[in-house]
Amino acid sequence: MLKLFFFLLLTLPLTAFASVTDSASAPATEVASAPATNLASAEKKFRVVIDPGHGGSDFGAVRDSFKESKIVLELARHLKTSLEELNVKDVHLTRESDQTLSLKERVTKANEIGADLFISLHANTSSQPLWSGMEFYFNATSRPAAEAVPLKPTNNEVVSQIQKDFRHYEKTEKSLVLSKSMQLVLTDSREQKSIIKRAPFYVIENTQMPSILIEIGFISNRREAQKLIDPAYQKELAQLIAKALMNYQLRY
Ligand SMILES: [Zn+2]
Repeated sequence: MLKLFFFLLLTLPLTAFASVTDSASAPATEVASAPATNLASAEKKFRVVIDPGHGGSDFGAVRDSFKESKIVLELARHLKTSLEELNVKDVHLTRESDQTLSLKERVTKANEIGADLFISLHANTSSQPLWSGMEFYFNATSRPAAEAVPLKPTNNEVVSQIQKDFRHYEKTEKSLVLSKSMQLVLTDSREQKSIIKRAPFYVIENTQMPSILIEIGFISNRREAQKLIDPAYQKELAQLIAKALMNYQLRY
């Protein structure tokens, strides 16, 4: 019975991940059809932690005068404002200024705050100057069967492991839904490429809540970089990300 349970537990999420593809073939979900600004729903507890990547001595990607750490901090501030305008008042930034912050400190902050959602903002760079578009990452870890249950587990260990696995799968499933919501809103609204990927980035892997890391565009692409530093574009992008977050929230 227990073996069957773990078999189900371990195989169940695979179907959920099968549909992760690039934007061209990503199926539309019902997420986007929900109204974006349901204020009544927003009044529920919804605590968001926004993590502007890098900062301080760590500039992230740099190309000419474009600096990732600065761009994502500006976007994070716009995003906080956009969420507050949608009545999501419990919004925190992992860093409010150009300060150095370790990955562990970012995760600890989000976990201690008890965020319902964690969103890490980054900008991409490539040696291919024409590459452009957005990327959405969610956590990659799939717990192998051998780790799922100790060899001779006590009942308490089994129960605790089951609880951990459920939390893990719930986080992964919700993070995927969030990624799809982002892709749908951001790709529909702009004629740009995007892709959803799984990757073991520290901050999305170690936060306890549904998490997403967004690469907002390529600063190595001069045209895209010019847009990314434009306050009007940052504001528009922030509003779209906020809309996608609201679509996600309405589902839960
Ligand atoms: Zn980065």
